[in-house]
Amino acid sequence: MNEPIIGIDLGTTNSEVAVFEDGRARLIRDAAGRAIIPSVVGIDDQGRLLVGEAALNQYVARPEATIRSIKRKMGRAEKVSLGGTDYSPQEISAFILRHLKDMARADLGREVTKAVITVPAYFSDAQRQATREAGEIAGLEVVRMINEPTAAALAYEAGHSGQRHILVFDLGGGTFDVSVVRMEDEIVEVVASTGNNHLGGDDFDNRIGQYILDHLAGERQFDVVPGTSPHARILRRAESSKRSLSDHPFVRVEEEFLGTRDGIPLHLDLELSRNDYEAMISSHVDETLDLVHKALDDAHLGTGGIQEILLVGGATRTPVIRKRLEEVFGMVPRGEVDPDVCVALGAAIQGAIIGGATGTAVLVDVTPYTFGTSALGELDGVWTPFLYVPLIRRNTPIPTSKSEVFFTVYDNQKEVDVRIFQGEHSDASYNIEIGQFMVEGLSKAKEGGPIVLRLDLDVNGVLHVTATEKNTGLNKKITINNALTRKGENALDLAKGRVAAMFEGISGGSSPGVAEGGDDSGGDHTETATARAVVEKARGLLGEATDEDRDDMVNLIESIQEALDRKEFREVKSLREQLADILFYMET
Ligand code: AMP
Repeated sequence: MNEPIIGIDLGTTNSEVAVFEDGRARLIRDAAGRAIIPSVVGIDDQGRLLVGEAALNQYVARPEATIRSIKRKMGRAEKVSLGGTDYSPQEISAFILRHLKDMARADLGREVTKAVITVPAYFSDAQRQATREAGEIAGLEVVRMINEPTAAALAYEAGHSGQRHILVFDLGGGTFDVSVVRMEDEIVEVVASTGNNHLGGDDFDNRIGQYILDHLAGERQFDVVPGTSPHARILRRAESSKRSLSDHPFVRVEEEFLGTRDGIPLHLDLELSRNDYEAMISSHVDETLDLVHKALDDAHLGTGGIQEILLVGGATRTPVIRKRLEEVFGMVPRGEVDPDVCVALGAAIQGAIIGGATGTAVLVDVTPYTFGTSALGELDGVWTPFLYVPLIRRNTPIPTSKSEVFFTVYDNQKEVDVRIFQGEHSDASYNIEIGQFMVEGLSKAKEGGPIVLRLDLDVNGVLHVTATEKNTGLNKKITINNALTRKGENALDLAKGRVAAMFEGISGGSSPGVAEGGDDSGGDHTETATARAVVEKARGLLGEATDEDRDDMVNLIESIQEALDRKEFREVKSLREQLADILFYMET
């Protein structure tokens, strides 16, 4: 066997090493099972060299003997001092590379001397030269240096034929890079690249951190001094809360014993919603999108000229980023290859290509289908109870867990009807319904009561669905087996039938999906949902109605709610049609 050429992502915050074996790229782990190695070098109090986690761990205690983010200094003549000796940035980087090389040797059981190393697309010649030297100092022949976005593109796209333009959106902890990569058969080139060296997930942590500090200062009259241990603990909690908000709509932010006030111990305990968090970071997200447009302009391309969007960097797990990109490009960005490590995997693929290997690929276990639910909302300008809200997107690595918050639509609502679908269509009735249940006995609160829906999908295709009334903890669960199999004809026929029933309803002037007999429970659910949709829409239009219409609308809304409570669905239907008539004339 040829000597393997390892792939190395020498990052500002973390570094990784990968190898291509048995037709696929895989990450190499250290003896403790870690694949993500902090790009930190230190000297301990005995004068011993520390690299990675061990160096990071001593940072708080011995910052003067620990070096972080050396990548920012690559290519400069300045030296850094470590344990009383001055080192060039290349030498410090070489310690990290040497550590990665040793990990590869231990894993592969043989000497490793050749590597592909990635560098940012914006790196100058001097910075590239310094990186090459770092490799040599570490005892590695750098057979090629490739741009990070190129490596990411290879991790996804190696083996595709034809010309493709790929947008690589790379948001790490401290830097943001966006590149347009052109791939044509064997040729991969970066045609445009831009970014901001001081924008990343750390800024998101700071926004949450500031919010917590303001809360403590305002509501608790407790000022936290920067640079102290409570301050550091708050920032760490901000980071973990941020990660949690990527998968769930709320997080409890708790930190015990931050200090004392008037002799009483002070604990932090507050709830943060994803909505509020997204508002906090919106200016940062806007900036990334402005830079995306700049990269497109530089590449002389419009959004339609991009065939794939690839996500790189841990901070791209933030859902609002994926959502905004999807809105701009009209396609779902791809993030299934772990965004923390896809650059290293791509570098290993490049190594394999140089070594003459074929069948290059990164394999990950992903769900081939999207799973979501239906909700009341506007679809193409029309209110519908069948707005599809995807929770787990196609190509998400499994196992995965996602939750989303929904709100009750009227006062004293007693139950919610939860429907789970497999599919992509924005109108849920075109997707395949794979589960349905009612959550009953809600706490008769005002409208807008939050209900959290959570989907847990495991590698065996078992989907656990839980709906929880947030304020009371009341919940209901179901399990759907074989969620990963394409649902058969039967379910498809059902979906088609539902859609056909909707059309009949419209042309025949009766309500969607409601059997004339009126006591079929599926029809009742549909009538309930449809009536709620109309009520919701009417509420939104009350401000625009004439006095006379407004009185009628308010009366009808109340009567519909009463009829719903009494489960008089025929009456609901007739009242709902009267209300819809008023809305129809208002809108024409
Ligand atoms: P990187 O430099 O690519 O390793 O990215 C690190 C950044 O990604 C840090 O700011 C992390 O807090 C952030 N990050 C990691 N996981 C998540 C997540 N699940 N949601 C949001 N940000 C994350």
